Amino acid sequence: MSELSLDAPMSGWVVSLDAVDDPVFSGRMMGEGAAIDPTSAEVRAPCDGQVISVHAAGHAVTLRADNGAEILIHVGLETVALGGAGFTRHVADGERVKRGAHLLSVDLDIVAHGSKSLLTPVLVTNAEDFVVTAPSLDRRIEAGAPLLSVLPRAVAKTAEPIGKGAVATLTVAVPLAHGLHARPAALTAAEAKRHAASLHLEFGGRRVNAKSPVAIMTLGVGHGQAVKIIAEGADAAAAATALAELIRHGLPSEPPLAPVAIAATPQSADIGGALRGVAAAPGLAIGPAYRLTTPEIVVAEAGRGGVAERAALSQARMTVRAKIAGQAGAGHAAQRQIAAAHLAFLDDEDLHAQADAAMAEGASAGAAWRGAIRAQVAALEATESPVFAQRADDLRDIERQVLLALTGESGPRPRIPDGAILIADDLGPGQLMELQGRPGGLAMAKGGPTSHVAILAAALNIPAVVALGPTLAAVSEGAGLIVDGEAGTVRVAPDAAEIEAAQTRLAIRRADEARALAEGGALARLADGLRIEVFANLGSTSEAAEAVACGAEGCGLLRTEFLFLDRTEAPDETEQYAAYQAVADALGDRPLIIRTLDVGGDKPAPYLDLPAEDNPALGLRGLRVSLARPALFADQLRAILRVRPAGKVRILLPMVASLAELRAARAAIEAERTALGRTETISVGVMIETPAAAMIADRLAAEADFLSIGTNDLTQYALAMDRGNPQVAAGVDALHPAVLRLIAETARAGSARERTVAVCGGLAAEPAAAAILVGLGVTELSAPPAALPALKAKLRSLTLADCQALAARAVECDGPAEVRALLREE
Ligand code: PEP
Ligand code: MG
Repeated sequence: MSELSLDAPMSGWVVSLDAVDDPVFSGRMMGEGAAIDPTSAEVRAPCDGQVISVHAAGHAVTLRADNGAEILIHVGLETVALGGAGFTRHVADGERVKRGAHLLSVDLDIVAHGSKSLLTPVLVTNAEDFVVTAPSLDRRIEAGAPLLSVLPRAVAKTAEPIGKGAVATLTVAVPLAHGLHARPAALTAAEAKRHAASLHLEFGGRRVNAKSPVAIMTLGVGHGQAVKIIAEGADAAAAATALAELIRHGLPSEPPLAPVAIAATPQSADIGGALRGVAAAPGLAIGPAYRLTTPEIVVAEAGRGGVAERAALSQARMTVRAKIAGQAGAGHAAQRQIAAAHLAFLDDEDLHAQADAAMAEGASAGAAWRGAIRAQVAALEATESPVFAQRADDLRDIERQVLLALTGESGPRPRIPDGAILIADDLGPGQLMELQGRPGGLAMAKGGPTSHVAILAAALNIPAVVALGPTLAAVSEGAGLIVDGEAGTVRVAPDAAEIEAAQTRLAIRRADEARALAEGGALARLADGLRIEVFANLGSTSEAAEAVACGAEGCGLLRTEFLFLDRTEAPDETEQYAAYQAVADALGDRPLIIRTLDVGGDKPAPYLDLPAEDNPALGLRGLRVSLARPALFADQLRAILRVRPAGKVRILLPMVASLAELRAARAAIEAERTALGRTETISVGVMIETPAAAMIADRLAAEADFLSIGTNDLTQYALAMDRGNPQVAAGVDALHPAVLRLIAETARAGSARERTVAVCGGLAAEPAAAAILVGLGVTELSAPPAALPALKAKLRSLTLADCQALAARAVECDGPAEVRALLREE
């Protein structure tokens, strides 16, 4: 028995069963297949076989194919009610038919008027025995053209040994709106790597290594297109099936890539007036031009021998990996996702193999890496889809970062004056993430609206226009610009009237936003009156004002790492004090919780010279670093203790796993307080980020003033899944009942001691999850500023009793998927 191709029984438009407005079909209760919105009036046999039955009402036929697959063709929805009207049968039960045989005639007018829909599901009803795939959806199909491919599962299991081992092939249609681009490619490759079998994907006449995310991207497989999976080796069948399942059902649905419509005509050039490009991130910005140039990095062509060059490349990749892992574990969701994809590219098998081969032939590490990347860039640019071509920017970004690490030219992060308009020929997302300061707008000569840098700009609310063309180079530094991220234009050197008009538009926009935020300014209470405090997480001084505007009652987590990363030495007490005081001032009379340094693990600080570790996430990080470097800790504590007014600041200790650590930190705080002559006490809280801390929360609560749960790390440590590792990214879900139980335990312990129990990890930013957290006993949520208005709105719609009931069900769920389903149900 082998793969069977089923032809379309009718002409029409093919759609996924998901689009069928009947849960019996869309829920796959009857089997797996596709549906046709028919334009022809004859129903033909999709394969050779035997007619098992023609329904008495004539609207449905079941055939048995020679390989045992049972195929149902159900013409229209709720057509049984027609009682046979509109249908003429041409075959009898038990009759043998050939592919293409005339089974039924349909009067489309009668059926269309008398039933819910003409949409005709074509299904394999015994789908448990077969892997059914639709090679291509959302397209026109003629009767008799291939519609479905049906592979007996048993065949896959007993595949004939060919060559090195068993071979299994499956063809699967890609359901994702934007096809197999960066993130899905990274997840697909991660799944492929879990199998010993060699795995390839074939599309458009090209076959690539399925364990290489970059190679997968270069195929340019778009929405609804069919890709063939070829597995070879001992676990071929399992590997092919697992990959097919992942592609069909397991890849997360994509956020829209193009935040705004693409402007019609890119690249017009009138330097005195408006440059026309392509709208990439909505909004309006007025400010002076600030040019960021990316000089070509010069690398030697010839190497110093394979061993030395390989070691250098590996070291450089390690440096870049640590940096990107930091971005993958923090920041905005878009930033985290892009960083996770970049990590996968950095470790791409094919890129490595190519670079290794070049180094073995005498190339330097830099030349080899650049050569390997450029070959894939060319392949991506050759795809016809702009989505894929724009992923070349990500590869260039990775190339640049590795070459900078290799040549030691990294230098300080570029600092952009707040509000200036960043202009650049081209820009990678990594460059935008690296910037110090926040641009008011972004204008690029190259790039596209679906590039990662555009997605990132949209996520960060930075209006952006791309593809402005070479004329952008003529814009002088400091020139006044108006970036219109919706019209896709950049006005250069606007006159006073234009500036005034733009300022008026901006003012109206801001007034609208302010109105929307106004409600967010009020304190958050549940519908039954219970107060829940809503704080903001901050990672820079500049975000404090935004937090206030978004209705934050204070800062629940100041990640002080922003002062320590990407520099050659630690900031001294004075620099730290100035930064902390600036945040305190920007918050007005609101409280400020400053977390002490949380470096190590995924957050590198090379100047600390921390020893290399096999398992950095389990090594010297967080409070452990501070206790191991008392002078560093003392500097930071003094800077914090000096912030005025007294009582405004609280201290939060990261990565605590034992009482001894809390006591040691408290002793250090006391020593500095006394040395500074401060009489007032300072509140000291503990982050609950390790299962150990959660399990001894009662003891910690006895000695700490408050508890704050870091769900990002708590999830990573509870589930033993690295939060920065794309291979397990799909599983790192804080709604896992194990994590929820640890939160419940912490909340119980905190409340018994009348301590505030907050959540400041990523889970607090999910409005739907807020109900569970509150139900578990959490009374303070701290999230990125932009998330706060929605969070408050959600809280106002809940009652404590509802939250408690929901939480009680959530902790009893089988896994995070069930918890998420529960939230959707609610
Ligand atoms: C956390 O782990 O949830 C947390 C808030 O800390 P960070 O994300 O900075 O590690
Ligand atoms: Mg943490």
